[in-house]
Amino acid sequence: MSLLSVIVPCYNEQEALPFFYDAIVKVSAEMKNTWGDLEFEYLFIDDGSKDSTLSVIEGLREKDKRVRYVSFSRNFGKEAALYAGLSNVKGDLAVTMDADMQDPPALLPELYRAVAEEGYDSAATRRVTRKGEPPLRSFFARMFYRLINKMSAADIVDGARDYRIMNRRMIDTIVGMKEYNRFTKGIYGWIGFDTKWIEFENVERVAGETKWSFWKLFKYALEGIIGFSTIPLSMATWFGLFMSAISFIGILFIIVKKLVYGDPTSGWSSMVCIILLVAGIQLFCMGVIGQYLSKAYLESKHRPIYIAKKTSDEDET
Ligand code: UDP
Ligand code: MG
Repeated sequence: MSLLSVIVPCYNEQEALPFFYDAIVKVSAEMKNTWGDLEFEYLFIDDGSKDSTLSVIEGLREKDKRVRYVSFSRNFGKEAALYAGLSNVKGDLAVTMDADMQDPPALLPELYRAVAEEGYDSAATRRVTRKGEPPLRSFFARMFYRLINKMSAADIVDGARDYRIMNRRMIDTIVGMKEYNRFTKGIYGWIGFDTKWIEFENVERVAGETKWSFWKLFKYALEGIIGFSTIPLSMATWFGLFMSAISFIGILFIIVKKLVYGDPTSGWSSMVCIILLVAGIQLFCMGVIGQYLSKAYLESKHRPIYIAKKTSDEDET
């Protein structure tokens, strides 16, 4: 027998969950027809939802014991939810997918086949279109992927979703990475392993609304860059070198001018501009250092990545 765990992070998903549950149960039944000894477990992570997501999940568990859940004491974010999922699954394989059906459950057999039969450690999905997304958001997303791939060793695929199946070896590797500032897309790329990529067209969410504002996405992007690249830190060095070179030329220029024309009091405004520019660059570089310092500070506290308030394992004996 082999057990496939389905991990579903849920934040205020009361409307979408019933759709999702029906769809995943249907796919599970189909997969059981193809692979007879395959069993399922559905692990819902309630990420401190403020609506009745938890009672919906508890309702599902009452009629279906394959449903398990972990409920957080507050909203810790999707990254924490994914981590909680991976650390609590019992399966030989685990798949992470969104509750809103933007990760089409119908792709699951294909993902499973890649790992169970084709010998991959992992199979992941990427959407090839961003249909239905605001154009500005798509633009910034594209810029972000280009930037982060230039800057870091983790190769992060544009349009990659967190819809991914992986084997035990990979689950254990990820659970072993206990960093507090998590950027899962980067972690997947960083750890390596053989991954099969499966492409699909963007699907709009079935119910409820997106939890990601532009600002939240922007902070998430910064998180990714800071977590996987130290290039911004060395920027200060390059700025510094550049400015020194310019000022050296400036000094030569002034000396020559003095020798040729004498030294009238002029250049007050250019002086102010230069001071402002240099001060700005210095503050910027200090800010960059501060960003890394704050991450290191939070990391050094070794706080838990999530806090569970209630889990379904409590009623298991
Ligand atoms: N999610 C979560 N915690 C959060 C935000 C989102 O667990 O703080 C879950 C959410 O319930 C959904 C998935 O992460 O299952 C993706 O969120 P969403 O659909 O809002 O993001 P989008 O698809 O718009 O990028
Ligand atoms: Mg979504």
